[in-house]
Amino acid sequence: MLRRTKIVATLGPATDNPGVLDAVIQAGVDVVRLNFSHGTHEEHLRRAEEVRARARAHGRHVGIIADLQGPKIRIERFRGGRPVVLEEGGSFVLDANLGPDEGSREGVGITYKALPGDVKRGDTLLLDDGQLVLWVEDVSEGRIHCRVVVGGELSNHKGINRQGGGLSATALTEKDRVDIRAAAEMGADYLAVSFPRNAEDVEEARRLLRAAGGHGAIIAKIERAEAVEALDGILNAADAVMIARGDLGVEIGDAELTAVQKLIIRQARATSRVVITATQMMQSMVESQIPTRAEVFDVANAVLDGTDAVMLSAETATGKYPAKAVAAMDRVCRGAERYRIHRPIADPRADSQFSRIDEAIAMASMYTANHLGVRAIAALTESGSTCLWMSRVSSGIPIYALTRHVETRRKVTLYRGVYPITFDVTTKDHALVNKEVIDELMRRGAVREGDLVIITKGDLTGVSGGTNAMKIVRVGDMVLPED
Ligand code: PGA
Ligand code: MN
Repeated sequence: MLRRTKIVATLGPATDNPGVLDAVIQAGVDVVRLNFSHGTHEEHLRRAEEVRARARAHGRHVGIIADLQGPKIRIERFRGGRPVVLEEGGSFVLDANLGPDEGSREGVGITYKALPGDVKRGDTLLLDDGQLVLWVEDVSEGRIHCRVVVGGELSNHKGINRQGGGLSATALTEKDRVDIRAAAEMGADYLAVSFPRNAEDVEEARRLLRAAGGHGAIIAKIERAEAVEALDGILNAADAVMIARGDLGVEIGDAELTAVQKLIIRQARATSRVVITATQMMQSMVESQIPTRAEVFDVANAVLDGTDAVMLSAETATGKYPAKAVAAMDRVCRGAERYRIHRPIADPRADSQFSRIDEAIAMASMYTANHLGVRAIAALTESGSTCLWMSRVSSGIPIYALTRHVETRRKVTLYRGVYPITFDVTTKDHALVNKEVIDELMRRGAVREGDLVIITKGDLTGVSGGTNAMKIVRVGDMVLPED
């Protein structure tokens, strides 16, 4: 059985070690994430090239996500680089006037100089993903005077979030604009936009990527309280969303995270968008060779919620056991998929009218496949849209995306239950296409004599949006040439 849920792995120093990238690809990674919060363009370009070379060597398609840093607000550094310890009840100043290396026990500089204008007395600020909690007592002349509510060690460059969100930093920084050009240059399949507040932030990223010549699809990371409020608009503007549970959990509080994850997954599927569940899914595997029971349940529950993909961050980027983390995810996803007990949305579009013929064919195919005992679905596709619509419907039947475009093959690596196959319909004899499709599936061991297969395609081969037919074929029966 093929695994339906896709696995995203973040690359980093750990995957640069000899042999690790190969091991990670062999363990089943479908998509890699290049994290632009760290590293140089040269490093990211080199990793992108290596991923494609190694994927080719293993006969696999692996997609690439370029993940922008975004306006992550951070503290600057401490004198001598040494961490300080904040005591509960003590005072501490976040100081826009302080130089980058002048931090001390009394206060520290901040990367976002406008922060004092965005906060007021009574706000709660969270440092280091919520490890330390500060209460704002007073703001004056670029200084945020805080009382330490939860203390602890504080080191260079830790992140700052405000509980409840609302910090005004725009989503695309100067660095992001430069990084978008690098993403276009490497031909990234996805561009992840960090901290978008609304649909406009997402649209702007898309405009900049297209202007730079990039073809990638846009992922909006849901990691601000405002983004949850603006979810409908963001889904409309994006191709995919990432439930960025790290920052989101700090902003909205961990208690509501679980329900919000389920809501976002449901809403994404209902609007034909792709969804990635991210952060701390197997965090203990940074140090350990096996996940905790809680992590196993977390990954399995995301699968049962209907996520397209589950993501590894530090587990693969800096952890001790990158390939083991991927293998553990692979195992847990398969285990969860075996029990199709939750069918959260059998038909996410039950109440909607379809606006397009290709969309109607995709939905009709899934209804038929799920009710007729079909072995495989083969979609002849240009852009991959047919497969996207199909994969929004809950099913255990594999959807093969047969396409001549390498960009489409890499894009669908993120779609749940969709598997790319290189197939150039324009070089085939129109009358024999069905037979060629079946032969291809037979060669891969995807179907056997007697199996039913659904094939979708258009009258005109090689035309995007042209799918207008669904054909049910029994493998082994003589396939009559089309007229
Ligand atoms: P990050 O995003 O890893 O880039 O911070 C994910 C998250 O916030 O969960
Ligand atoms: Mn984040």
